[in-house]
Amino acid sequence: MQDRIKENILNISPAGLEEIVTGLGDKKFRAKQIFGWLAKGVTDFDMMSNVPASLRNRLSDSYFIGLPEAVREQRSKDGTVKCLFRFADGTEVESVFMQYSYGNSICISSQSGCRMGCRFCASTMDGLDRSLSGGEMLGQVLAMRNLTGEDIGHVVVMGMGEPFDNYEGLSDFIRLIHDENGYGLGLRNITVSTCGLIPVMKRFAEDFPQVNLAVSLHAPNQEMREKTMPVAKKYGYDELMAACREYTDKTGRRVTFEYAVIDGVNDSEECAAELAGRLKGWLTHVNLIPLNKVEGRDFRAAKDSGIHRFRDILDNNGVPVTIRRTLGSDIDAACGQLRRKRQG
Ligand code: SAH
Repeated sequence: MQDRIKENILNISPAGLEEIVTGLGDKKFRAKQIFGWLAKGVTDFDMMSNVPASLRNRLSDSYFIGLPEAVREQRSKDGTVKCLFRFADGTEVESVFMQYSYGNSICISSQSGCRMGCRFCASTMDGLDRSLSGGEMLGQVLAMRNLTGEDIGHVVVMGMGEPFDNYEGLSDFIRLIHDENGYGLGLRNITVSTCGLIPVMKRFAEDFPQVNLAVSLHAPNQEMREKTMPVAKKYGYDELMAACREYTDKTGRRVTFEYAVIDGVNDSEECAAELAGRLKGWLTHVNLIPLNKVEGRDFRAAKDSGIHRFRDILDNNGVPVTIRRTLGSDIDAACGQLRRKRQG
């Protein structure tokens, strides 16, 4: 008999599970039990102790629990855990566990590789491998919780890939992890970061007005943004700013702008003043990120003094700004590097 191709059960919603269990002749409420077990991070159907063995066996005939395997792990003194996860088909992505004063957070990937081509980023150097499903995004959270034994109360979709280039996977993930019968993560505890795919930003504001939005800006104007972020050629600076304003008007929520400060590229006082001029008076927040060095790329982080000066200019203009705390600096920092190292 030919092997049937099994499906990842983590991709299936509670409603979908109801259809499956009733189709197998079982009671509806079993779906809720199964969904609850999956959110606990069980690795085997036989761990679902209150589900009858006959149903567990029939499920395992057609489905597998698609938790990724940790194939490399780095632990920092500050508690940060960076992990290279591998899915059943060999696809590899990175996830990072971080401890903050407000609780534990995980940075997950939405794609393996990326096709956005940002020039300072390691994840995009070999292009896009493939997008992840919602269940595979959830799988990173569950596998990381299993690995660390720690609760994870915040998720940022800021790892490898462009989440708005995989809207289906992203929206499935948000619904799955938010569901009260499963992981039950609050929408406000999720942050999605985009390089600025404007049409999808609009859709996201409609679908998930409570989820936090971060926009990778990295430049104070179109000319400079185009030089490091090819996406700017498609979606221009002014249009992006207008879309962010629209987002804020519609949702009443601030947009966080990420700005990686790169030595000699976007770190001048003029850049800071221009950015401040644009953002003054907005409901916004600027997160300055010391650039992580990426092998094979020429860009370097701005000096600390330059980053502080940049921050002060924004601050003096009343633009809320913070410098991102560097976590895990004693392990491979920039996202995408662990995967490349393995392949190289
Ligand atoms: N594609 C999405 C999310 C993934 S990247 C986005 O562009 O927002 C997450 C963040 O890390 C982005 O702000 C990205 O620009 C930034 N980033 C990429 N490479 C970096 C590097 N070498 N140093 C610091 N930040 C980097």
